[in-house]
Amino acid sequence: QRIGVPREIFPGEQRVATSPEVVEKLVKLGFAVTVESGAGAAANFSDEAFLAAGADIAADATALWTKADVVFKVRPPTPAEVSQLREGATLIGFVWPAQNPELMQQLAARKATVLAIDCLPRTLSRAQKMDALTSQASVAGYRAVIEAANAFGRFFNGQITAAGKVPPAKVFIAGAGVAGLAAIGAAAGLGAIVRANDTRAEVADQVISLGGEFVKVDYEEEGSGGGGYAKVMSEGFQAAQRAMYAQQAREVDIIITTALIPGKPAPKLITAEMVQSMKPGSVIVDMAAEQGGNCELTEPGRAVVKHGVTIIGYTDLVSRLAKQSSSLYATNLFRLTEELCKAKDGVMHVNMEDDAIRGLTVVKDGTITWPAPPLKAA
Ligand code: NAD
Repeated sequence: QRIGVPREIFPGEQRVATSPEVVEKLVKLGFAVTVESGAGAAANFSDEAFLAAGADIAADATALWTKADVVFKVRPPTPAEVSQLREGATLIGFVWPAQNPELMQQLAARKATVLAIDCLPRTLSRAQKMDALTSQASVAGYRAVIEAANAFGRFFNGQITAAGKVPPAKVFIAGAGVAGLAAIGAAAGLGAIVRANDTRAEVADQVISLGGEFVKVDYEEEGSGGGGYAKVMSEGFQAAQRAMYAQQAREVDIIITTALIPGKPAPKLITAEMVQSMKPGSVIVDMAAEQGGNCELTEPGRAVVKHGVTIIGYTDLVSRLAKQSSSLYATNLFRLTEELCKAKDGVMHVNMEDDAIRGLTVVKDGTITWPAPPLKAA
């Protein structure tokens, strides 16, 4: 089979769904690989590098889409892209079926088979190597710290020099999921004092192991909403949490917020008042900007200064580290390809008896198979 990798056309998207390193491995599995000219340019992968890895280059999108048996994508395809997908072909990438019902119908009408990487059952330990939500959230968390450091006027680490004593920066991370933990690691690595809070108390040990301090809300309430995700907390908890966050806002130099609740708008954790209470020159990076923001003053997609505090609401953090995020994403898709091609004969087989593959498969030969039945308890 021929795997095709088009250039991503979503505005500002810099990633690409494969890398030269992975192309070499796909060729070893028996696949032919075609990459659209310029597809990797924004991620620093040249056409020449893809050629050297064993791919051939399609001059344009039409040549790419109409030739591929399997298409590797990052973003969900547009209607125009779907109309170029070969009938009966396979598409692998982010799809978000719940948010994109029309796209699902279009894909079904093409008699496609679609593996949505966002539908991977993440709790299966076997699935971790294919977990692109995790790889991309880690990159975003790291980049959030880099953006904060860039906007902050001081060192992160404390220093005693002949020119004076510099205190370490204090960083508070709201939400210690995948992105939050990556941010804790990056900020601690730069030498900052790092504190973090999450409604799921079970993450405390992970925060500590990455060099952070876990700050508790003074209110007893279980924060897990199932599947490792958070739930909306009670009014009482929220009030206690606001009091604690208000205290942190006065003390710290940098706040990075990552809090999300599946299917709900992002919880508002940082009020305008808290921003106003921060020291001038402080920085907030709101990683939940696209889902409505954790901070009341965030403007999605932009950095703004309010009350002397820089509030960064960039929604393209992963694209700001496109080579890294593409490399990791490419490896996630390669691991999936290995699962789909156990015979190493260059042909993918979608085994619906396999829990991980069943979860991912949202359209099979033109039939919508999403949502997958819940996993049987292990
Ligand atoms: P997410 O992006 O949905 O949310 C980010 C974090 O925000 C979560 O930790 C959540 O608890 C926290 N949060 C939500 N509301 C909050 C509030 N009001 N105040 C403070 N914090 C709040 O989560 P994610 O990063 O995608 O991770 C979700 C879960 O999936 C985690 O438990 C993670 O360990 C788990 N996971 C498991 C596997 C696996 O088992 N293989 C792989 C990846 C992720």
